[in-house]
Amino acid sequence: MFGLNSDQKDRFEIARERMVTVQIVDRGVKDQAVLKAMRKVPRHLFVPKEYESEAYDDNPLAIGYGQTISQPYIVAYMTEVARPDATKKALEIGTGSGYQAAILAEVVDKVYSIEIVPELARESAERLKNMGYKNIFVKYGDGYKGWKEFSPFDIIIVTAAAEQIPEPLIDQLAENGRLVIPIGAPAAVQELILLVKKNGKIEKSRLTFVRFVPFKRL
Ligand code: SAH
Repeated sequence: MFGLNSDQKDRFEIARERMVTVQIVDRGVKDQAVLKAMRKVPRHLFVPKEYESEAYDDNPLAIGYGQTISQPYIVAYMTEVARPDATKKALEIGTGSGYQAAILAEVVDKVYSIEIVPELARESAERLKNMGYKNIFVKYGDGYKGWKEFSPFDIIIVTAAAEQIPEPLIDQLAENGRLVIPIGAPAAVQELILLVKKNGKIEKSRLTFVRFVPFKRL
């Protein structure tokens, strides 16, 4: 489907299957649709060619422009926490390689994703299009402001660490919507936060410690 010869396909499929079992299932991710997406999406096509053989390793990888593709477990965990299903509309801030967007797109109805580095926005939009995704919409811009035109969103996933939760994202969250965001100083350990909107009010919980690249402003 993604234009690989069968030897490569076998090698990457085996690595991907092992990644899901060892890094994701064994650490407690249970959502079957999320696991299915992690087993399906060819992560090696989202990293620079020279890191292809490391694509299924248990860590983030450099994707250029000082940015990274998140660790596979973190992608799976954040996606599960967002409670995705086929009825939902998601917004991602920080498209990066497009990998998190692809995982979401396997499970939800539509994914809107914003990237502040123009080259990454262009490259990932192209990559996702070539892979055949028709339910992912990527734009270049400052995700701080969200994407009002398509709001409200059932799911908002932020993949860069902000010092504070951007107010426009809270406004663009649907009723019962879930916002997952790493909060903290750039060089420090950050905390992954979940916000749920219930009867217009925000319920906040603290999930785990993480390390993400900094949230930037234009
Ligand atoms: N989700 C990505 C991870 C990318 S790392 C993936 O799956 O590959 C975080 C990304 O957030 C970087 O590409 C960075 O450029 C981007 N970013 C940082 N601040 C941003 C902002 N204000 N709006 C949109 N994107 C931002």
